[in-house]
Amino acid sequence: MPHFYKAPVISILARPAFAEPAHLPVHWLGESTDGERLAEFAGRLCYMSQKNPANRGTREYLENIKKQGHGSVLEHANYSLLIEGVSRSLTHELVRHRAGFAYSQLSQRYVDESQAAFVVPPAILGDDALLAQWTAQMETAQATYIALVEKLMERYGWVADKVHRRKMAREAARGVLPNSTETKIVVTANARAWRTMLELRSSEGAEFEIRRMAVATLRLLQTEAPGFFSDFETYVAEDRAEAARIGYHKV
Ligand SMILES: Cc1cc2nc3c(=O)[nH]c(=O)nc-3n(C[C@H](O)[C@H](O)[C@H](O)COP(=O)(O)OP(=O)(O)OC[C@H]3O[C@@H](n4cnc5c(N)ncnc54)[C@H](O)[C@@H]3O)c2cc1C
Repeated sequence: MPHFYKAPVISILARPAFAEPAHLPVHWLGESTDGERLAEFAGRLCYMSQKNPANRGTREYLENIKKQGHGSVLEHANYSLLIEGVSRSLTHELVRHRAGFAYSQLSQRYVDESQAAFVVPPAILGDDALLAQWTAQMETAQATYIALVEKLMERYGWVADKVHRRKMAREAARGVLPNSTETKIVVTANARAWRTMLELRSSEGAEFEIRRMAVATLRLLQTEAPGFFSDFETYVAEDRAEAARIGYHKV
């Protein structure tokens, strides 16, 4: 029986470590994290305003940067996340976000998917009949995958390199795995790029699963660095799923 995910699992892998240069100290005010201070430092360098003449706290300063649309300042702070428990169809949409993003995703050519998990589409959750129909299809697909890998390994028995032979078998057999197959992906992006992706994918127009992932990512990043993400507001939309809207939209 495969494992069935009902929600994404998101872990933070990396965040900025800011090292302030001794010859250009900033008059910091208020609470902040390294990533937020890095962006403030970069913003203040533009006008050499390290003395902080307006007496702004870091998060207040970043609020003004977002309001002014001075987005390049936000590009200095990168956050890396490990995203698991999401479907291949979700990551197919996610990797369309290019500017400021880096991705590394589990390879179905190299990794044995005979134990793969699956992600229940949110619209199916809570309906037993739909869930049973969907589950049966996942199990059949996985059984076919296992049988195909076995037969392909036999068919290409003359290939001496076993790693290469396995890759040949898996890359062909994966064709029967559904879009709901679980995958894992490491995503790194700067704060500006995260904002753009989160705005698009947490909105009501986005597909349910990526929207759920975007709302969960938003909550994580809001805790991590409120100065970059506090203008997003989450709410329950008319379709009864969570969504979010951005405060300072940047075109
Ligand atoms: C609700 C929804 C439905 C969608 N449906 C479909 C669909 O049916 N089919 C489909 O193919 N896609 C679809 N997409 C994907 C969409 O077309 C974009 O590929 C995706 O949202 C990434 O947006 P982007 O290119 O702005 O992002 P990024 O690649 O992150 O780029 C961010 C911004 O950087 C600039 N930029 C990036 N690359 C370039 C470039 N090469 N040249 C000039 N400027 C650049 C642009 O200003 C861009 O907006 C959908 C997206 C959403 C949110």
